Order: sequence, then C-alpha cells, then structure tokens
Amino acid sequence: MNEPATSFARRLLAWWDVNGRKHFPWQRERTPYRVWIAEIMLQQTQVSTVEPYFERFVARFPDVRTLAGADLDEVLHLWSGLGYYARGRNLHRAAGIVMREHGGVFPDTVEAVQALPGIGRSTAAAIVAQGYGRRAAILDANVKRVLARRHSVGGSVASTATLDALWRLADAHTPAERVADYTQAIMDLGATVCVRRRPRCQQCPVHADCQARAARSPERYPERAPRRTRRVERSRFFVVVDPQGACLVEQRPPRGIWGGLWSPPQRGAGEPVDAFLEAAGIAPDLVGQVRAADVFRHGFTHFDLDVEPVYVRLTSRPAQVHETTARWIHPRDHRLGLSKVAARLVADSGDPTG
Ligand code: SF4
Repeated sequence: MNEPATSFARRLLAWWDVNGRKHFPWQRERTPYRVWIAEIMLQQTQVSTVEPYFERFVARFPDVRTLAGADLDEVLHLWSGLGYYARGRNLHRAAGIVMREHGGVFPDTVEAVQALPGIGRSTAAAIVAQGYGRRAAILDANVKRVLARRHSVGGSVASTATLDALWRLADAHTPAERVADYTQAIMDLGATVCVRRRPRCQQCPVHADCQARAARSPERYPERAPRRTRRVERSRFFVVVDPQGACLVEQRPPRGIWGGLWSPPQRGAGEPVDAFLEAAGIAPDLVGQVRAADVFRHGFTHFDLDVEPVYVRLTSRPAQVHETTARWIHPRDHRLGLSKVAARLVADSGDPTG
C-alpha cells in the first residue's frame, strides 16, 4: 500500500464525524446482541425497511435468552415481509447455541461468531467491531466497492484472488482505535458517497489518492460477476376459506425457500381443484364456490415465481384435512410467520378481486 496505514482511516473518521449516519436504532444502546440482529436484518435489505422490523424485534426479544426461548413461529411472524427467512431461522438457532455453548454471552471473537449459523466472515467482523470495539476488518458490498475503486482492484468480485486482495486491503486500513466508528464510516461512505452509479467523488475524503477517480473510471470497479440467467417457475396456491373467514395454511419444510413459514397450500401449476380437494380430504359437497384470480409474479434473487391463486369457499369446515401441519388462521389475527406471497393471498381471501 502506498500510503500510511492510518491515513485512510484518519480521513474517513474525520469525514464521518461530520457527515456520518449516527441515528440508527441499533446505534443506541449498542450491544453485541443488538448489533447482531441489525447486521443480519441489513443483509440484502435496505436500512429504511429494516428500522421498524428491528424496533419490533428487539422490543419483543430484548436479549439472546428471550430469543432462544421463543417459539420459532413467533420469530418468523416478526420476520414476515422482510424476506430471506433463513436469516430468521438461523438467528433463532444461533441464540440457542449462544445459550448452550457460550453461557448466554454473545462471543467476542470473529472465529467464534462466524461459527454460529448464518454468519459469514464480514458480518462476524462487523459484530465484533461494533459490539465489542475489537479490531476486525469487514468487507461487505459497500466496502468492496470503496476499496476496489480506491486501489483500482480489477477482476470479478466473485473470484477468490480479487476477494483475497480486497480482504488484505480491508485489514490494512482498519485502525486499532475507534474501530466501531470506522466500521460504520466505511459502510456509510459506500452507501452515501461512493455509490454504485455516479459516485460523489468531490465529497469523498479519500479522493486525492483514489486510483479509479484519477483514471476517471470509478464505475468500472468492482467488476461484477457474470449474471446468471433468471428462470421463471409457476405454482398454484389453493386459498381455502371456511364460512367464518378462516383460511387454511400449511407449514413448509424447514429448509429451502420460505422454510418453516406458513402458506396456503402450494401445488404444481395447473393442479386441478378436484385433485387438490381429494388429496386434502375435503369432500366436494363442502365446496360453495371456486374462483381463479389473476396470476401475479413474485421475484426472488435468482428466479421469479408466477403465482396462480385459486380461492375455494367452503360451506362448512371439514372435520380434518389430510395435511399433518395444516392450521386454520384468521387473516387479521394470527401469530404465524407468512411469506409475502402467503400474506397477500391470505389478506385477499376475504375479497379475492386480484
Ligand atoms: S474518490 Fe470517488 S471513486 Fe474514489 S473512493 Fe471516493 S467516491 Fe469512490
């Protein structure tokens, strides 16, 4: 590196003292537990979306003990709408491990934090740096962008060689003092100044020696991984509603997309209503009305799901359905975790105009 190791950090901290974001709820009462919850919620999700979820979550589960002792359904209920539900399941599992293996005290080394489910190297470092003030280098998407530009590091960020080079730079720049502020500062710089398109280099505290800026090519860095082709899947969802307005939901398997969440029964595209009813053990004479609503598309990271809603109104509720995990819930009064698609289908069950 062609600058003193502290110079970058010193300029960044001076900039952050004036311009940094300092009012996030997780910056108040900054404990390792609260930093952990925030860091997990912030993965793949915008700050403005996370804030109300964070407030509700820590109000209900103020510490690791409460979270470990909670019902997974309630954890996922508070996660409903935030997406990437494996994060919620892993938080719950990790809280149990912290109770059993760390005596209820959140671990304070990157290695121990990284050993918990759902926590990668950069997130572990962010928790240790911000929760304990211990020196640890982070490398999230914002930091990758800043460092790749500052040092004109080429090569796809998906390649090990590029990542290794960026990790070395991240480590070299991380100061021993004020590491929590520095961690927030470099994330803030990437989020507000060194943004993906049209970075505001004039406002940047390191612009004087930024190599990408000198070459007038900041947007060349970091090089993106080649895009994968996006696939489209299609499923039929049966929204079965009893005469009192209660809706039939079943729990999804613990792993995979929407793992552990509840949803109106999801079946293959075009699954005939008769076949579904027979498999579910719902006698045809209980069915009052069947109505297919418009198909809508839900986007995941790597694929789209086309949802075919079919609303089935019953004249009376069957004694039981052939589905071990099935439950009847009222659309506005339940404590189960629903995916965004399930929440929309259930909410529309009273008036399926979509
Ligand atoms: S000078 Fe521009 S490109 Fe370089 S780090 Fe600052 S904002 Fe990013």
